[in-house]
Amino acid sequence: MSILLGCIADDFTGATDIAGILARSQVPVTLHLGVPDQEAVIADAPFQIIALKCRTTPVDDAVTQACRALDWLQTQETRRYYWKYCSTFDSTAEGNIGPVAETLLQRINNSEKTWNGLPDTIQTIYCPSFPENGRSVYMGNLFVGEQLLHESPMRHHPLTPMSDSHLGRLLNTQTTSEVATLTLPIVRQGPDVIRERLIELANDGIKHVIVDAVDNNDLMHIVRGSEHLRLLTGGSALALHLPALFRVHGWLNNKLQIESAPPPEGGRIILSGSCSDMTRRQVAAAADKCSCLQLEPIKLARESQLDDAIRWLSQQNDSATLLVYATTTPDAVVTAQKELGKEAAGSIVEQAMATLAQLAFDQGRRQFIVAGGETSAAVANALGQKRLAVGREITPGVPWTTGRRKGYEFSLALKSGNFGDEEFFSTAFDVLNSIE
Ligand code: ADP
Repeated sequence: MSILLGCIADDFTGATDIAGILARSQVPVTLHLGVPDQEAVIADAPFQIIALKCRTTPVDDAVTQACRALDWLQTQETRRYYWKYCSTFDSTAEGNIGPVAETLLQRINNSEKTWNGLPDTIQTIYCPSFPENGRSVYMGNLFVGEQLLHESPMRHHPLTPMSDSHLGRLLNTQTTSEVATLTLPIVRQGPDVIRERLIELANDGIKHVIVDAVDNNDLMHIVRGSEHLRLLTGGSALALHLPALFRVHGWLNNKLQIESAPPPEGGRIILSGSCSDMTRRQVAAAADKCSCLQLEPIKLARESQLDDAIRWLSQQNDSATLLVYATTTPDAVVTAQKELGKEAAGSIVEQAMATLAQLAFDQGRRQFIVAGGETSAAVANALGQKRLAVGREITPGVPWTTGRRKGYEFSLALKSGNFGDEEFFSTAFDVLNSIE
């Protein structure tokens, strides 16, 4: 099977985000955790997502990772490519969004000259808008809800503080050639005008075009107006409209449907290592419905709390929903980080979550929710997952997935810190267990 859309995502929960968005179409989606081995995996779904870990790595590393992912996609005869980053454009002036896009564009163009009978242009668009989650772009400026990006809480992000909302200006510092903006008044004139304008810009040598979008209708126009481009870049919401376009082209076989099998039988466990505001509320809301265990980095380091946790786990009733959390207040995080160091405080929690996930699996638990991007990576790796089949979406950006370990299927939902509402954990199990 050739791949219709090969997506390279710059982080783990960002990859599950776009996987869930594409799976809304009911077209099978495979999520790879890291670049698949060159020969080992044959594409088994029209939409393939490769989760990298390169949002904040040095540029050279990000470009190398993305090129390896592209190499694999090209060996599988991929028709279109997507470079997925965060809808808040998380990246610094030295960041990776531009350099990776530029390299992918060049390599795709070098290796594949003819494309779909449409004009051949070395150009891509940048479209982080995600209207369902309040991210929009107007006159090249990115908004988070009603706030400009640089006035939103993103200005304090620990790794990628966003101090400029103007995407053209930001991207200009990352690319070797000029960046243009295709503004909303043009987008609203529809796909034909968008395509004409993009081709005009391409004829002027413009390879990088920021595209305004405020609502889903704008995104639909953009997807249709950019169908001549081999590479798209953006958040996940633009991709929502690709399956319909592929259907119009007759690329999608209507019989190809996600199989919605009932969830595997076995107990439930939530592992929460995120300390985001939303996750704290979700943990508080779930606490009285679950059998709970709190992990604390200082106790894990100084009092072998992990041994107690292992003992606790083996004493739990199979039918209880377990909630293991290190989720805590910002003050407590700072205290742990001061005592242990920032890296060590995080990694001791991640290692404990990984160990407990393996043990819970061995004890027959088969429905896992993990909260936190880094925590998700640690747990999915500990469970030995290289790829996951993407299933029903719980909330925008968080799908259920199915993995396989030691001959058994299990369900896994990976939630980035800020996603979902307060009732996310119970909603997630309801969604999974309503599948018949
Ligand atoms: P998010 O998606 O909210 O950013 P992550 O899992 O990516 O969540 O990051 C949270 C980080 O905080 C992880 O490295 C985790 O191990 C660490 N952590 C969790 N609980 C604590 C705690 N109580 N003290 C210090 N660090 C913690």
